[in-house]
Amino acid sequence: MSLVVVGSMAFDAIETPFGKSDKIVGGAATYIAWCATNFTPVKQISIVGGDFPAEELSALKARGVDLEGVQIKKEEKSFFWSGRYHMDMNSRDTLITELNVLANFEPKVPESYQDCEFLMLGNLVPSVQRSVIEQLRQRPKLIVMDTMNFWMDTMPEELEKTIAMVDVLMVNDSEARQLSGQYSLVKAAATILRMGPKFLVIKKGEHGALLFHDNKVFFAPALPLEEVFDPTGAGDTFAGGFIGHLAKTKDISFENMKTAIIIGSALASFCVEKFGTTKLREISANDITERIEEFVQLVHFDINLQ
Ligand code: AMP
Repeated sequence: MSLVVVGSMAFDAIETPFGKSDKIVGGAATYIAWCATNFTPVKQISIVGGDFPAEELSALKARGVDLEGVQIKKEEKSFFWSGRYHMDMNSRDTLITELNVLANFEPKVPESYQDCEFLMLGNLVPSVQRSVIEQLRQRPKLIVMDTMNFWMDTMPEELEKTIAMVDVLMVNDSEARQLSGQYSLVKAAATILRMGPKFLVIKKGEHGALLFHDNKVFFAPALPLEEVFDPTGAGDTFAGGFIGHLAKTKDISFENMKTAIIIGSALASFCVEKFGTTKLREISANDITERIEEFVQLVHFDINLQ
């Protein structure tokens, strides 16, 4: 039984008010894999061009990422994304999206991935995400989907078809508003939950994340950090921590999802401390435990209403 991750593997160029990166390795599935492997091995589905560094693939393999489902198109270029963050580091503008290999990506689920119990659909063309669900002979125990405004703008119908097939949808606050046409996040959540998913996670950057299910809601804060260096991949890292914990514990109750969003938030707080995946490669199990403990302290209080 395994965790299968689908998503982009890419080159990114990032500008923040405090610095600029050259082309560095990024992509939704890259961040998810670096993060989720802290909890469980990953079977990866993606596509890269001949320009994608072989040593990056070897590093992921050494980390416990099965790359049988990653296609390498030697003659083509990898997906490229460039973004510029605003002063608050919460909002950003996409400067360039070059789909390259992603333009004609037809994922092939290897036979050895058919034991998929947990499926993480990282940000990707919605029809490609759906194709992976359809190729699995047995429906996974849990399907989690991340997406972004780019697909809401360019292919809303395709996106809604995929959303209807998943258990958990993850979006940020502005995407929840765009998808639902509602400004209130509570109303937005009710509208989105009627589209199919049973659970909805709304990420609010430095203001934490909300988990909605039926009439229940849970809030997890983000760790107040003195310095946010590069928020790229924070959402994907959050997703990696969330699904990694659920896949490890095999418990998909609302209660365990609360723990999963705290773990996702803790891991995301590491991601933003350095450019790209740098910090995620450095952290130890001990660092993660300590960070989660900081979260517990952050929200813990005693109250006496007598
Ligand atoms: P996040 O900051 O968590 O939203 O994720 C940023 C990552 O998503 C970057 O590493 C990009 O390479 C990747 N990304 C950006 N736009 C897209 C897109 N349209 N499709 C797939 N991946 C994307």
